[in-house]
Amino acid sequence: MPDSPVAVVTGASRGIGRAGALALAEAGFDVAISARTVREGEGRLRASSVRESGEHSVPGSLERTAAEIEERGQRALIAPMDLLDRESVLSLPRTVLEAWGRIDVLFNNAVYQGVGTMDRVEDLTVGSMHALLTGNFVHQVLLIQEVLPHMRQQERGIVINMVSGSARYDPPGPPGEGGWGILYSASKAAFGRVAGGLNAEHGAAGIRAYNVDPGSVMTEARRARSSTDVYEAAYGSAPAEATGKVVAWLATDPGAERFLGKWIFAPKLCSDLGLLPGWTLTDTFAA
Ligand code: NAP
Repeated sequence: MPDSPVAVVTGASRGIGRAGALALAEAGFDVAISARTVREGEGRLRASSVRESGEHSVPGSLERTAAEIEERGQRALIAPMDLLDRESVLSLPRTVLEAWGRIDVLFNNAVYQGVGTMDRVEDLTVGSMHALLTGNFVHQVLLIQEVLPHMRQQERGIVINMVSGSARYDPPGPPGEGGWGILYSASKAAFGRVAGGLNAEHGAAGIRAYNVDPGSVMTEARRARSSTDVYEAAYGSAPAEATGKVVAWLATDPGAERFLGKWIFAPKLCSDLGLLPGWTLTDTFAA
């Protein structure tokens, strides 16, 4: 049994998941990290719409994030997973429990980004709709189901679900013109109902679940797709580290419980609590 508490972070090869994994390591967690890209140089962004073609290389990998966790003095465990591959999703918590014997925090951050994500209504297919709902809802609920018995047994556990403003607000334009695909927002809206249900069903057993909205974040992936980003121009951009710090705060501070049942807009909370030295909220996304 390790001395440090254990966090599991999905989608930790880059972007907000990487920032969350590093903030959790800085807060004293050993961190199990998951995504598809294991080695640097292997990251690929594929089309998110039928109207796109080709693919882009993107920096970031589980090996790089693991090295950064270890630089912070904590242990890292690489557990590759593809959100569309049910077996790999189910094996993630089993791998962590076999290796480290405990899971204290589950940060459900990964997102399916393939065709359908940025598609217009007329371009959606049964296949792309299935993929979005499977990757962003069904398999993420399965992952929570796998972790729950362990958290119930240890009579505590924190689940942090990554949601999106797109789940609450109508898009100001079509996908790629300031807006987003309706299946992306619908899958996030569905996932946004999970934390409240978990608290109602398992709060008495010591489980705490939070919805975190990162606002608009310019990640390596968004930069790799285009040097000019319509969302950054429209909404500004908060650093990924702001959400990472909020995730670590929710995982460690007893005062976090006042945010149960709330939609947590991470840039504002980070700014209000001064969690990221030198950064304050200057741009808000429909806060
Ligand atoms: P990102 O930089 O593109 O990172 C996405 C992460 O998910 C990567 O680690 C990626 O790793 C992983 N991933 C992608 N497809 C996967 C799959 N099929 N199976 C397993 N892992 C997969 O994205 P981000 O912007 O940080 O987004 C993180 C979360 O924040 C998402 O839930 C997103 O919906 C939410 N969010 C972001 C923004 C924003 O402005 N950035 C706004 C609102 C909400 P691999 O490619 O290595 O698998």
